[in-house]
Amino acid sequence: MKDLMDSLKDMDYRVRRDAVLSLKGTASKENTALLIESLGDDNETVSSEAIKILKNFGEAALPHLIGALKHSSYTVRRNAAQVLAGMGNAYLQTLLDLAKTNDDDIQFWISEVISQFGSRSVKTLVEIIEADDMPAKLCAISALGRTRVKEAVRPLLHCLDEEQWTIRKTAAQALIQLGQLAVDEVIRVLNCGVTDREFWAIQILGEISGSKARKSLISKLLSENIPVDQKQVILQSMRNMESVEVVEPLIQMLGDKNWFVRKQAADTLWELGEMGQEHLIRALRSKNTDIRYWSVKVLGDLQCLDAVPQICQILKNDSSWSVRASAALALGEMGYEDATLDLVDALRDSSEYVKKNAMVALNRIGEIKQAKSQISEEWVQGFTRQVFSDLQSSRTRGALARLKEMIRDVPDFPKPGVMFKDIGPLLASPNGLSDVSKLFAASLKGRDIDLIVGIESRGFLLGAALAQLLKTGFVPLRKKGKLPPPVLSQKYGLEYGEDELELSEGIVRNKSVIIIDDVLATGGTAKAACDLILLSGGKVEGFLCLIELDFLDGRAKLPGVSVESLIHY
Ligand code: AMP
Repeated sequence: MKDLMDSLKDMDYRVRRDAVLSLKGTASKENTALLIESLGDDNETVSSEAIKILKNFGEAALPHLIGALKHSSYTVRRNAAQVLAGMGNAYLQTLLDLAKTNDDDIQFWISEVISQFGSRSVKTLVEIIEADDMPAKLCAISALGRTRVKEAVRPLLHCLDEEQWTIRKTAAQALIQLGQLAVDEVIRVLNCGVTDREFWAIQILGEISGSKARKSLISKLLSENIPVDQKQVILQSMRNMESVEVVEPLIQMLGDKNWFVRKQAADTLWELGEMGQEHLIRALRSKNTDIRYWSVKVLGDLQCLDAVPQICQILKNDSSWSVRASAALALGEMGYEDATLDLVDALRDSSEYVKKNAMVALNRIGEIKQAKSQISEEWVQGFTRQVFSDLQSSRTRGALARLKEMIRDVPDFPKPGVMFKDIGPLLASPNGLSDVSKLFAASLKGRDIDLIVGIESRGFLLGAALAQLLKTGFVPLRKKGKLPPPVLSQKYGLEYGEDELELSEGIVRNKSVIIIDDVLATGGTAKAACDLILLSGGKVEGFLCLIELDFLDGRAKLPGVSVESLIHY
């Protein structure tokens, strides 16, 4: 038999896991030290066993765990913090006392650990903030952001008055992390009259999604006497708001008296793309010259062909030469050949400026026509798709990072050794479900799908939301005994024992389906789902899931199936 040290370094994670399990009997110094090293194991199954055993060691392991917060490996430090957090209330006082020592290295982790005790940690964290030790203060401020309790909001708002910018910035980030818990109080600061505080409130609300934050920023934007720089920050944050509610206020800002505000509102409308087009076309009839001017420009830049007839009218009839000139440029920008005659007419406009722009536009249309004749339609389509996907990808990355943050790791649930990925916080957040659906929909673009099939039970939630977005039907795959007859069923193996999925007979026959679930782990469930669809005469177009546990290699069980996951662990 290999000796223990070798086993703990074996290539095969199962050997390492068994070696870790063999340490659980005695909470000796040696065993604890070995377990702490295994906290850094890059296989989650091994590290989560070590976490579990150390938690059970309790007080005996406490000093070693605190020491491990200074370990050279980040994973060890993070997992040691997780063990401490999971050891429960009995040790909270020790941790609170430790939080007040001034060892910077462990301060960060201890603040992190005690923040998990929610309300009970707030008082100590506030004491740390009030004492004037800068690194400790910053750690405690961040930790307040992670407490997920309302009591943390007030002390953080106080920090926004501190002299150092770093402190104010850290407090703002912590308030953003508290999200909806902080919204009401931050909205109150939004109109407090102190410019600097208002500025922070705008930044925080801009990052917190949800309709309350959005509405408060919109009404601030439209309020009287708001300084130009505040307007600009609000306009900037509207880029991420992807809600049609922001479109009208933005159009109003196209008529602002400050050029920078007008320009920024136009840029933001451009960023929002299709969402604002209809409103912008309506704004072409506005009495305000600036609003017409900028609406024409944005529609041209967006290549909105629906707006061409109205823009041609503006080119002919608008009372303002600057708007007519903007219309000429927009038509050129769109490369719309049918506008050629109108542009030729515009060469006789009374304004030199309009004439010049009509000339530029005619050249542009010529250039585009020539370029088009030289390249194949297919190439143009491919190129446009690429540009579009580059534009999208930065947004997608942001959305994925936000989603990942909202997935909670729950060790040893529903049974020991399993790291459960809890999507509860994601579902509870205002944009979580809709972001997941949008990302799923983006990965299905161009595919012909008749039905979305969701696997009980979290696959129902994600699948139904997607079906609604795609306007397809939805079919549930249920656990045995839930569906009325006639049903088809398929058994599949679980780690211990068997389970069975059922499908209403005939419902997917001759249909192309996408199967949805929250997590792809060993792949047993997904395989049973695919088999069941095939058995009942359907075609599996693909399997989509939110989370894939790569180390379990579940996709190996699904050869020939297109498998896509948004988030990988
Ligand atoms: P599997 O058959 O092993 O691929 O497991 C997939 C099913 O079990 C999915 O329906 C998941 O909802 C659930 N599942 C498996 N592992 C986890 C996990 N770590 N966290 C949450 N759900 C899981």
